[in-house]
Amino acid sequence: MKDRYYSQPVEEILQQLKVSSDRGLSEDEVKERLTRYGPNQLQSQKQKTLLMMFFEQFKSIMVVILLIAAVVSGVIGVMEGEGLVEAFVILAILVINAVIGTVQEKKAQSSLDALNKMSSPHSKVLREGQVTEITSTEIVPGDIVVLDTGDIIPADLRLIEAVNMKVQESALTGESVPVEKSEEVLEAKELPLGDRDNMAFSTSTVTYGRGKGVVVGTGMETEVGKIAHMLQNTQDTETPMSKRLGQLGKVLGYVALGICVFIFIIGVLYGNHWLEMLMMAVSLAVAAIPEGLQIVSTIVLAIGVQRLVKLNAIVRTLPSVETLGSVTVICSDKTGTLTQNKMTVVEGWTGGNRIDFRNPPLPEELDSDEQMLLQSSLLCTDAHLKMLSGGEHEIAGDPTETAIVDAALGLKMDKNELDNRFPRVEEVPFDSERKRMSTINRMADGKFRVNLKGGLDEVLAVSTRILIHGKVRPVTEEDIETIKEENQRMAQSALRVLAVAYKDMDTLPDEVSTETIEKDLIFVGLLGMIDPARPEVVEAVKKCKTAGIRPVMITGDHKVTAVAIAGEIGIYNEGDKAVTGTDVEEMDDDTLYRDVEAYSVYARVAPEHKVRIVKAWQSHDDIVAMTGDGVNDAPALKQADIGVSMGVVGTEVAKEASDVILTDDNFATIVSAVEEGRRIYDNILKAIQFLLSANVGEVLLIFIASIANIGNPLTPILILWINLVTDSLPALALSMDPADKDVMTRKPRDPKQGFFTRGMIRRIGYQGATIGLISLAAYIIGFKDGGQPLGQTMAFAVLGFSQLLHVRNLHSNRRSSFQTSIFSNKSLLGAIFLSALLLFAVLVIPGVMEIFGVTAMDGTHWLYVGLLSLVPIVVVELMKLMKFNHSKDEY
Ligand code: ATP
Repeated sequence: MKDRYYSQPVEEILQQLKVSSDRGLSEDEVKERLTRYGPNQLQSQKQKTLLMMFFEQFKSIMVVILLIAAVVSGVIGVMEGEGLVEAFVILAILVINAVIGTVQEKKAQSSLDALNKMSSPHSKVLREGQVTEITSTEIVPGDIVVLDTGDIIPADLRLIEAVNMKVQESALTGESVPVEKSEEVLEAKELPLGDRDNMAFSTSTVTYGRGKGVVVGTGMETEVGKIAHMLQNTQDTETPMSKRLGQLGKVLGYVALGICVFIFIIGVLYGNHWLEMLMMAVSLAVAAIPEGLQIVSTIVLAIGVQRLVKLNAIVRTLPSVETLGSVTVICSDKTGTLTQNKMTVVEGWTGGNRIDFRNPPLPEELDSDEQMLLQSSLLCTDAHLKMLSGGEHEIAGDPTETAIVDAALGLKMDKNELDNRFPRVEEVPFDSERKRMSTINRMADGKFRVNLKGGLDEVLAVSTRILIHGKVRPVTEEDIETIKEENQRMAQSALRVLAVAYKDMDTLPDEVSTETIEKDLIFVGLLGMIDPARPEVVEAVKKCKTAGIRPVMITGDHKVTAVAIAGEIGIYNEGDKAVTGTDVEEMDDDTLYRDVEAYSVYARVAPEHKVRIVKAWQSHDDIVAMTGDGVNDAPALKQADIGVSMGVVGTEVAKEASDVILTDDNFATIVSAVEEGRRIYDNILKAIQFLLSANVGEVLLIFIASIANIGNPLTPILILWINLVTDSLPALALSMDPADKDVMTRKPRDPKQGFFTRGMIRRIGYQGATIGLISLAAYIIGFKDGGQPLGQTMAFAVLGFSQLLHVRNLHSNRRSSFQTSIFSNKSLLGAIFLSALLLFAVLVIPGVMEIFGVTAMDGTHWLYVGLLSLVPIVVVELMKLMKFNHSKDEY
């Protein structure tokens, strides 16, 4: 019975679920049901437990090498009578490293979870008589859900009301065409899901119309819950970037193994003890592996994502942060994104008269045509007018419509009063493909009137007659000419123009649809409304251009209006072209591909054109960001490299299909997000360069020492202390580096370009060599004065401290570090300070010194350490001066 809600009358179900369809549940009732039924979510998302995360840290090749190191140290320790201290230290470092790794991964995961929550679907429910928006997971059985076009159905519902409602439920039923829904009871006993027309199932989407339903199943109790195991989608923290870095680590691991074998053989041939050589080989392996690289990149991305939220952009997946930095084209909607979406009606035109709404006539001065223009457009709006005490009022709804309600109120025409007099009985809702909508209202004499409004061409296409001075006559060519001239005049001053028409009918047709209703209408007139550009957009467009990013306007609005606004904000410049959706339709793919770069404005575009526009740019190897808010925008959002949806006005479907959600719907935010993407990528490169130059230095040091046969300059625990402890803090803190001055004046990064550009290889090479050589010098000085222990101590000190100074070199590849204040990145300053303390701890605290096998240095040795550690700064500054620090293709 439970599954047969479709065969039960709604009233019965409402009774069973103890809810009224006009008030919904009470908050207490909701709380109680939430505890009883649990949150409305699929339990498929298996979260990794902390323990799992911890053990996963041990899965790398590094651990194997470190374990070998521990064993070798243990054996040597026992043989030489020094005990197992070193072996235990290595094991301890391994565990500490795993703990740090776990904590960091957990942190990254939590920030992703928080983000997921932010970008998870919302629904409108009726509770305590009020419609409120809530996260869909908070829905309980018995909730009354209000559905509009573009909503994702949050739970299984029995429909109470369905107005022209169509639902796409292909994921559940395999039916690719949206199905029409109704609230009628179905008599049949056994119906397959696809035929249950009065039910709406969780995860399906409303593609048309609106409706209301009562929740009969949530979470795992929904139809999709039953097949949930097929839909597991855990979000992994692993991104292409971190994968690439992981692979790099592996390659370096194998290379290291090769060199290890080589060193081992050479050492033994020199006549050294094989165990000692094994130790040296293991040291080298430890030195060669960039242990912190992968986790640092993930954390830096996760930190970046949090910063993006503050900039009003919710990035839904980590890889998108990387792609953001490479965006070369931003295709943006106009209304609300480039403009404020604060419409005000400023002009009207009907039957040859113009109405100036800025200096409106008195209500009694309106002639019958003008009254019809206002009345028809008012009856054909979904905006809600609420009169407040003290003569104030509030209008809710689509800005195009609230503008009309507001303008009419200025002429003493009250929408509520009009709706009461002429109640709406039917409607064909607005959609961006038809670009018009109509309502049928019952008139005082019991007959019906169709009121229609929409784009001019779309209204003219269905009008055969015209109202002039109270009389109706067929539309002539001249009428059309005059109307178009009037439209052109308004559009050129950047006004959005809506046309209005009506017709009377004695009876209602059997079926209300665009075909049966929207024909043979009487044209009434035009309304022109202004939607000012967002002031910050002009600056953002300029920024795009200096950053090598092409802004393109895509709008459903009229071409002339679109071009006027695009000109105002700098998107449309001399020599640019503007086309309409129809033009695009007529073009074949080759022509569109050839000309796409010339078009700055696409007007009268329907969502399906957007996909072709994205593809045309992409076939020029461009990386496209495309905005969208409607259901039909989903394919274009998916096709784009970065799909951007609108947090405020966007539909849930669009949000689901996008990579980035703008919480302020603002074009300028996309540009800031791109800037942030570039900054994050730069900083990851800095971290890679920083960590790898240390590795190269260490390898070189040990390699030369082994060839020269002067003993092992660094033990594994000393290397580990640097690689895992004192180096990773500054590497992480590099993520907080402010954006480079030229971050938005250089060309976008080619996404195919890996991390290792020529410049990068050169820098890692010579900077690593410098660090390696100064450490070698320190080793030799120490060795001469106090044998191997002092040599190792000094090599360790120089390696550690020089890295901490070297990190300052990384702020910019071109500019001197002295041009950057040390306070520009306070986290880095803190990290350097902390790491320095950790180095000192090993070098001066007696007990710790013993564990790490270092000896005390005197004043002269410290002076050497200080001077040698400064060398990388001098060398890199010189290289920057000689322009050797970067290659031509780099910033
Ligand atoms: P964008 O610039 O973001 O694409 P848009 O508002 O211009 O947005 P749509 O909302 O798809 O795009 O509107 C397209 C056209 O449909 C408008 O230019 C207008 O002519 C018409 N239109 C828009 N809203 C309504 C409405 N509420 N009723 C009737 N017609 C409308």
